[in-house]
Amino acid sequence: MPIELFFLVVLLLLTAIAFVPEVFPVCSCCGKKKFIMFFKINKAIKIHPGYSGSKSVCRKCCRLYGIETLQDLQKVLNIRRKIELNLIRRKIELNLDMTKDSMLSQSRTGKNHSRSSRKI
Ligand SMILES: [Zn+2]
Repeated sequence: MPIELFFLVVLLLLTAIAFVPEVFPVCSCCGKKKFIMFFKINKAIKIHPGYSGSKSVCRKCCRLYGIETLQDLQKVLNIRRKIELNLIRRKIELNLDMTKDSMLSQSRTGKNHSRSSRKI
């Protein structure tokens, strides 16, 4: 009897774990886990268990970004990625400009790399 009860408990636990991504999906826009009632879009895109099988957008993100379909979500994600890439590029350009300025100021004051290389 106890071993049958054990298998029953394990089976119930596995089914509960399998349904957790359906009951608490992850928003593809903000990345938060919420209850299924707070989602407007929840579609399965591939046959895959877990969170990677479906795309979901919560009601808050739908209202905030004007998302009605999965194509709108893809547009929002593309725009966000482009903004992040532009910010990274801007940071790199600023760092390059700062290093150029610091090299110019060092050469003006007479402190250049040859002096530091002599110390070593
Ligand atoms: Zn969201």
